[in-house]
Amino acid sequence: MTTQNESTATTAHRIVVLGAGYAGMSAAVQLAARTKKREDVQVTLVNPDERFTERMRLHMAATGRTLAELDIRSLLKGTGARFVRGWVTGLDADAKVVRVDDELNLPYDTLVYALGAASDVSAVPGVEDHAYTLGGAHDAELLADRLARLAAGGTVAVVGTGLTGVESAAEIAERHPHLDVVLLGRGEPGAAMNAKARTYLRSALDRLGVRVLSGVEVAKVLPDVVELSDGAGIAADVVLWTGGTRVSPMAAAAGLAVDERGRIRTDAALRSTSHPAVYAVGDAAAVHQGYGVMHGTCQGGMPTGVHAAMSILRELKGRQPKPFRFGYYHTPVSLGRNDAVVQFTRPDDSPRRAYLTGRKAVWYKETVTAAPWPTFGRMKKIPASGAFWPHGGRFTRIRGTR
Ligand SMILES: Cc1cc2nc3c(=O)[nH]c(=O)nc-3n(C[C@H](O)[C@H](O)[C@H](O)COP(=O)(O)OP(=O)(O)OC[C@H]3O[C@@H](n4cnc5c(N)ncnc54)[C@H](O)[C@@H]3O)c2cc1C
Repeated sequence: MTTQNESTATTAHRIVVLGAGYAGMSAAVQLAARTKKREDVQVTLVNPDERFTERMRLHMAATGRTLAELDIRSLLKGTGARFVRGWVTGLDADAKVVRVDDELNLPYDTLVYALGAASDVSAVPGVEDHAYTLGGAHDAELLADRLARLAAGGTVAVVGTGLTGVESAAEIAERHPHLDVVLLGRGEPGAAMNAKARTYLRSALDRLGVRVLSGVEVAKVLPDVVELSDGAGIAADVVLWTGGTRVSPMAAAAGLAVDERGRIRTDAALRSTSHPAVYAVGDAAAVHQGYGVMHGTCQGGMPTGVHAAMSILRELKGRQPKPFRFGYYHTPVSLGRNDAVVQFTRPDDSPRRAYLTGRKAVWYKETVTAAPWPTFGRMKKIPASGAFWPHGGRFTRIRGTR
């Protein structure tokens, strides 16, 4: 195998963004737009696919709906940023080099690590071999194909009662009413919502014919059965695993300080606490706020990407980056194509009294889901347009500041 080493002769400051998901795209577009006239900064985005994956639509893709063709190269056109198509296979955080497809060495001065998270297929035995996941567009398409071929009366077990599990079970039950869909996991679906929103969610699942088994622990997934820790078995022709996510072990292997889930530990400005030339954003980062560590969402991931970009540019001007602050504001959950529930939240993600249901919620959820790509387009023209998000008020206020 030959290795290509990129020239280190450039005098430009090399910023490499790893991963073109919601967070990585936010960072890359901000950086590209704000440096397009500068010869002294070179922005490179690395991703395995030229097509942007709308991860928030993967449960829809899993029932055969076609995802839009959103071309990352075209979006970056005219900014001077370059796109490298490839899979990041290694990182040397001390030498500041990224390895792509085991053959290209990409040196950087500043790195934005935005590789997201994938389904945790090692959580219980059998998942890797016998369950489908929503790890990416291809995984969703494989599941769609299998569901389309499943005979009437076949059983689909969706494991994981978190929001991805709920959305997937509802979508499958609506699209394939002749199938028996069972949603099972530890918690009650919609557990983080207020009682009324949760009741609504539950009645929508009932209306769609989804059987819910909460309070159960899955011990093993076999080819045609999901085995519970009490020994009971749920017969299933198809198993979709949504029981948690895990991040790539690459950051830990590179010697970056990570938390117990492998996410990169960040300082207030989103820099790695061990390697400050690395910014970590989105699901791959452990970002502390006053209320705790942020959990993986697009609503929080995009702001981390924008903030990292602005911080890098501040540092290039010799200024200190500002602390990142973010407060949640909603939890939108689709319940098939014709129903949804949106729980409005406090900045710490606890539920408020207000929530939306039915057509209004469907409209709201679709607006939120469709927003990122046009937002990237707007940010390319007017970078400041992407720099607004709720900062969380007293929930995230840092002592001594207003
Ligand atoms: C079905 C579903 C519905 C959801 N709904 C919502 C919602 O309504 N609201 C909300 O806020 N959040 C929602 N989420 C969560 C949200 O999608 C994630 O939190 C978000 O995608 C995280 O963004 P990210 O940029 O960190 O990672 P990702 O979007 O996962 O992007 C990571 C990118 O890195 C690339 N990558 C990974 N490894 C490598 C590698 N080794 N080399 C090169 N590239 C690599 C991937 O291909 C991808 O392009 C939903 C998730 C799912 C699955």
